Amino acid sequence: MADTVIRPAALYLDGDAPAQELIQRCVHCGFCLPTCPTYAVLGIEADSPRGRIRLMKDAWEGRIAPQNAAFERHVYQCLDCRACETACPSGVEYGKLVEAARSQVERTRRRGAMAHFVRWLALDQLLPHPRRLAFVTRLTYAARDLGAGALLRLVGRRVPLAARLAGSLDLVPAGRPSAPALPLLFPAAGTRRARVALFEGCIQRAAFGATNAATARVLARNGIEVVVAEGQTCCGALHVHAGERAAGRELARRNIAALEPLDVDAFVVNAAGCGANLKEYGWLLKDDARWAERAERFAAKVKDASEILADLGLTAAPGPLDANVAYDEPCHLLHGQKVSAQPKALLAQIPGLRIVPLAEADWCCGSAGIYNVSQPDLSRKLLHRKMEHLRAAAPDILVTANPGCLMQLEAGIRESGMRTEVLHLMDLLDRSYASAP
Ligand code: SF4
Ligand code: SF4
Repeated sequence: MADTVIRPAALYLDGDAPAQELIQRCVHCGFCLPTCPTYAVLGIEADSPRGRIRLMKDAWEGRIAPQNAAFERHVYQCLDCRACETACPSGVEYGKLVEAARSQVERTRRRGAMAHFVRWLALDQLLPHPRRLAFVTRLTYAARDLGAGALLRLVGRRVPLAARLAGSLDLVPAGRPSAPALPLLFPAAGTRRARVALFEGCIQRAAFGATNAATARVLARNGIEVVVAEGQTCCGALHVHAGERAAGRELARRNIAALEPLDVDAFVVNAAGCGANLKEYGWLLKDDARWAERAERFAAKVKDASEILADLGLTAAPGPLDANVAYDEPCHLLHGQKVSAQPKALLAQIPGLRIVPLAEADWCCGSAGIYNVSQPDLSRKLLHRKMEHLRAAAPDILVTANPGCLMQLEAGIRESGMRTEVLHLMDLLDRSYASAP
């Protein structure tokens, strides 16, 4: 990395610069390096957490501009998996840093017309609009069924965008999209122990609506009444990860306004990426005088579905399932929310399940929001590494808890010719209850 001084002053634009207080916590010890997937693959200091933090510091000190191609490349080659946060003994909250660094890049970044259009379409026109997203999801499944992938791959030899689209089509899960409109209320079975609002998500609702229904059934079966509030929208995680913090903040305000009036004990979410972002609404809106306090209050009530179930304990006994199961920890559940013991404790309560160890279960699968689309080569390297470990573990079922991970892992398994089934933890629990006496 060039160390030349470009200007003797901070090169960040106003607002959303990586927080100096967080940068200063880094003591360059390097404990995070062995946990960083991009450092493992690329072997370059600037593609390690420590190297990227150094780049952010350099921009504060006027040595490199966020518009510099190297700054942009290293910041975007990061998965934002936050494994470095878990490893860091100094409490560096790296996710907040890299997301702010990306927002600085986006302030001045120029894209080609097509790339700009795709980004506008996905982030502005689809994710925040459930009906449009459901429609496009159905179209995508139909395109997959009609064999559009092969055609796109052919065109992709000349047109890079077509090759990217073919790669995206490979991620479409087997079967049909499931987006059943959920009842507005799932009454608690037996004595009501809690009342929660289910956060449906955007891609989760469009492609994994059946998992939302399963989550509500599992919670209700365990004495937790579930309400499904209207007016909620995409949590904004993909926007924040992509450096679009203003759009992320707007979505946060809409969700807070829709959900905070509800008389509930918690806002429950089953998508790890959404959960991590919802829990950081306080940070996202900290500089907005009208919303900061409301956002903090809202974030404090967000819980992953496994968290509330493990905290309250299962009152309904799960039914038996005869299978070898491995658990792959979603980064934004493990590193983003520090939720790891709870899903494992729930799995351990299903009679007949044999939990098999999976090496590097705490490593990113390469999905990482839209990383598998924006950085396909690096993403595939990480997916192949994951598939090698999966082949060694050879479970019947691979359990995880995030829509992006579900799609990425299923695509990897399909390509590798393995027969492992991929399931969300809540789907597995629901299946277990279906087999209960
Ligand atoms: S981020 Fe943390 S673990 Fe990594 S070098 Fe800095 S202080 Fe050490
Ligand atoms: S977030 Fe993940 S990929 Fe990025 S620096 Fe940290 S460990 Fe490495």
